[in-house]
Amino acid sequence: VTAAYSIGLDIGATKILGCVVDSAGRIIRQETVPTPLTDTASIEDALVEVTRSLLAHHVVEAVGVAVAGWVDKTRRSVLFSAHLPWRSEPLADRLSARLDLPVVLENDANAATWAEFQFGAGKPFRDFVVVTVGSGIGAGIIAGGQLLRGAHGLAGELGHAVVDPEGPECPCGRRGCLDSLASGRALQRRFQMLRAAALVADGESSLLDGNHMPGAAIAAAARSGDPLALQAFADVGRALGRGIADLVMYLDPAAVILGGGVAAAGELLRVPTDASLRQCLGTRNRSARTHILISPLSAVAGAIGAAHLASTHHQASDLHPA
Ligand SMILES: [Zn+2]
Repeated sequence: VTAAYSIGLDIGATKILGCVVDSAGRIIRQETVPTPLTDTASIEDALVEVTRSLLAHHVVEAVGVAVAGWVDKTRRSVLFSAHLPWRSEPLADRLSARLDLPVVLENDANAATWAEFQFGAGKPFRDFVVVTVGSGIGAGIIAGGQLLRGAHGLAGELGHAVVDPEGPECPCGRRGCLDSLASGRALQRRFQMLRAAALVADGESSLLDGNHMPGAAIAAAARSGDPLALQAFADVGRALGRGIADLVMYLDPAAVILGGGVAAAGELLRVPTDASLRQCLGTRNRSARTHILISPLSAVAGAIGAAHLASTHHQASDLHPA
């Protein structure tokens, strides 16, 4: 009996993470390459490169790809991605032909949600939501023990739910989307704005450098008590709690798990988000029992989930050939 390994690829805004994952969701080997943002062919080449590099060490049965974008319901094509140049790209078939392996695509938030359900903070629940807070915001929904994909495969596009109609303009055309108020990019912008205002108030505007501090550095500043960094997390958490309150009203989940890079900030993000959720729901709502948890898998959840979805999909098609 050979060990059943599969590969999960997660295409982020700056890097592609590739992992060999075993059937218990453990990462056996991982590699990263920078994400080429120029054209679809270069991204495809990078995906093939990292996969071949992993295949040099391990035999795998299938490849799953987590994509920040809209994946069609058959999970063969990327319909649209805000950050990557794919438009109705038949990525699964193209990769499968080049790698000679079965390939399955999944939206990155859905893949992360599946990983939480199988191996992470979602294991005890059959109804829960994962909200991924990275450079953008996504959500994945497990309802009755199933991943909820929706009629077109696009369920859980929480990032462009409006939480403040008077808020900043979003590239999607709406105003005050969660993405523009509570994502990693929004955290950086908020902190920069607060810092600029404080420097101007102190007459030290010459110190303004215009560079956005990385999210991890803002978290470190908040931990050491920097009031502006703490305020930035409080503001992001307030917006996030508002968006989650609507989700809780629609879905009545047992838990909401915060994942993605910004969730590595832990309690700094969880506490203000939870307080805002409680405030929005009020005390009479039974859904106020919904817990907000921090993902234990965070940055690797998408790759682990994609790998597991690919291996189960592959096994299912062996049992039921088309
Ligand atoms: Zn938007």
